[in-house]
Amino acid sequence: MSPADSWGRYPHVEQQTRSLVWRSDALPHGEGSLLPRGLGRSYGDSCLNAGGTLLLTAGLDRLIDFDPTTGLARCEAGVSLDTLLRLCVPRGWFLPVTPGTKFVTVGGAIANDVHGKNHHRSGTFGRHVRRFELLRSDGSRRMCSLEENPDWFGATVGGLGLTGLVTWAEVQLVPIRNPFVVQETIPFENLDGFFRVSRESEADHEFTVSWVDCLARGRKLGRGLFYRGNFAPSQFERLPLAKSHLSHGAGLAVPVDLPAFCLNRLSVSAFNLLYYHRQRGRPSQQLIHYDPFFYPLDAVHGWNRIYGRQGFLQFQCVVPHATARDAVKELLERSARGGLPSFLSVLKTFGDLPSPGWLSFPRPGITLALDFANRGEKTWRLVEALDRVTREAGGAVYPAKDARMGPESFAAYFPQRERFAPYVDPAFSSSFWRRVNPVSLPMPSLEGRGDSAAPPASLLALR
Ligand SMILES: Cc1cc2nc3c(=O)[nH]c(=O)nc-3n(C[C@H](O)[C@H](O)[C@H](O)COP(=O)(O)OP(=O)(O)OC[C@H]3O[C@@H](n4cnc5c(N)ncnc54)[C@H](O)[C@@H]3O)c2cc1C
Repeated sequence: MSPADSWGRYPHVEQQTRSLVWRSDALPHGEGSLLPRGLGRSYGDSCLNAGGTLLLTAGLDRLIDFDPTTGLARCEAGVSLDTLLRLCVPRGWFLPVTPGTKFVTVGGAIANDVHGKNHHRSGTFGRHVRRFELLRSDGSRRMCSLEENPDWFGATVGGLGLTGLVTWAEVQLVPIRNPFVVQETIPFENLDGFFRVSRESEADHEFTVSWVDCLARGRKLGRGLFYRGNFAPSQFERLPLAKSHLSHGAGLAVPVDLPAFCLNRLSVSAFNLLYYHRQRGRPSQQLIHYDPFFYPLDAVHGWNRIYGRQGFLQFQCVVPHATARDAVKELLERSARGGLPSFLSVLKTFGDLPSPGWLSFPRPGITLALDFANRGEKTWRLVEALDRVTREAGGAVYPAKDARMGPESFAAYFPQRERFAPYVDPAFSSSFWRRVNPVSLPMPSLEGRGDSAAPPASLLALR
């Protein structure tokens, strides 16, 4: 992947790059504004900086300290979750929260305050970050935690890389007894089925997520497969091993951009039908390695190329429980009749643990993620319509997956943006930030704002 692209490969922009090597160095100068860049696994333009400079953090890849008795890991911000897993799993520790790919950096996970299959139990990644160092363009360095500079902590977690460069961070890992997960797969016949299985699963299962057949309509609208699991205990019953029970190893790769006609309504319908029916309507239980359980897509390197040269748009929203049933139904209906099949559709319930970042996306409700090949105007119109449904339902769209939301939507989804704006480093910006703030927000001085207010007690209780 070119460092000029995001994972959705849309939009394409011209920008410079500067590689960072030492965390003790001052920030390099570049053309235009600066923006840190991890592994570019954000889909839209929050990791792009048209006309500016990306600060590539891949060189900040050192593990600084790891205590195998407490599971506290300190590392530079360019260390990937993959690297952390290689270190911690053999020693009986795991990531407290992980997104659906392990090829993201610790800095990127903080800046988007990422969530995983255990959001209903563990909240977001930022809740497990004990502290980090923030380097600003004026050369100042701040230690940030819930106790020290808590306002800078709240602005930077979920802060889209705009408050400065996170040079290193300390993350609290969680203990595991072995690297296998006991996974159950439960087919559900429609949206009501999803809500029912989700409710039944949350108390006893650490990890939950569902794949949805986005082309099913009528009484079958929202049918899919519900995956739930827990790390296996040290002693467990004999269970069948999943076909993909081992770690991915070298994996497959998509070597070229596939032509646009490969992903059409017919091919996606056929895939969805086969995928849904492979369960034959019956629940199953299997033992599966954490790698295919958490990162099924990582098995196919460069899978984003299946969408062709024009790239794709992902749409991920969350809608509150009160409006979720109607809103998710409408989102799925619109997407099913929009003539643009979503290849990958995922539903999940977010829990109510507060996210520590002022601009964090996760909040209580149901989250739905849909992928659409970029077919220009048609795709745009569909995703705009989904955005309107989300707004009317009082929900929010995830900036890490967005290449399109307008300023009004951003303001509605992230009411804390005005509190956040003064913390943006004056030398930093991104294509996303300029898009959602076309007119500069007033930048009140930080002096005397009282932003060092103590974090919510529920966050401190984690300590
Ligand atoms: C297959 C796949 C599955 C995914 N599943 C999920 C999921 O389940 N949950 C979820 O939440 N997300 C998910 N994502 C999105 C992904 O986790 C986030 O976009 C993540 O932030 C990407 O990290 P990155 O290192 O690639 O950072 P980039 O995409 O390069 O950058 C992301 C942001 O982090 C900032 N940043 C990077 N490094 C630093 C630093 N050192 N200091 C300050 N800011 C920095 C950048 O400026 C940018 O704003 C998924 C993505 C893919 C491709």
